[in-house]
Amino acid sequence: MKILIINDDGIYSPGILALAEVASEFGEVKVLAPNMEQSSMSHAITSSRPLSYIRTPVKEFEAFRVNGTPADCAALGTYLWPDTEVVLSGINFGLNIGSSIWHSGTLAAAKQAVLLGYRGIAFSTDISDENFDINQQKPFVKQALKILLEENMELINVNFPHNPKGFLWCKQSLRHYDGVMVPGEDPKGRKHYWFTVVPVEATEKGTDRWAIEHGWAAITPLRLDLTSYEELGKISNKEMPFQVNPSE
Ligand code: MN
Repeated sequence: MKILIINDDGIYSPGILALAEVASEFGEVKVLAPNMEQSSMSHAITSSRPLSYIRTPVKEFEAFRVNGTPADCAALGTYLWPDTEVVLSGINFGLNIGSSIWHSGTLAAAKQAVLLGYRGIAFSTDISDENFDINQQKPFVKQALKILLEENMELINVNFPHNPKGFLWCKQSLRHYDGVMVPGEDPKGRKHYWFTVVPVEATEKGTDRWAIEHGWAAITPLRLDLTSYEELGKISNKEMPFQVNPSE
């Protein structure tokens, strides 16, 4: 199996090496990743300048660093190696559950792969334990790959707590959060701002967040169609104020 590995933490992250080491047990691995951290870049595409890559072996793995975003890496990697069978993204240092799916660069690499006709799987891990060691997550990533490479799903989001007690299929946790700007000051006295979020609702059972909070690894199949069919169904029988008959 030909496997392309991307991340958003950058090519020098220990997370991408861990993923490459596990994935190499399942097939031939190539690594193409941003040359610096691109976390929270979401699905940004570099359109105002060209991209280039530089060979940067990651241990024994053939690897290249790119002056672009995670989504750029998915586009460039699948262009360079069109026989890629699956694109893996991660292992991200930090969870990508609930609403953070919207701004995750890790997930965006997998999403971009899916938009281009490939399969994409994103891996992220909790790093809040002070004794966190990415190597401890490798057996769980291996178990996840064993399950997921067999499944015929195009886009999958996987999140690991510390020492997961097993895997749960989950839905995305959609809670409202109060996003707030926290003001501060730089050493020269200039104001700056950090955006932070605090959930305002309790965690719902069956969601990725609930799974993580209860010690399970969370697997969520995702889709790219954002249409609300519920709302569309409700409204499609209503007359539009400026409706014109296309035949007129
Ligand atoms: Mn990241």
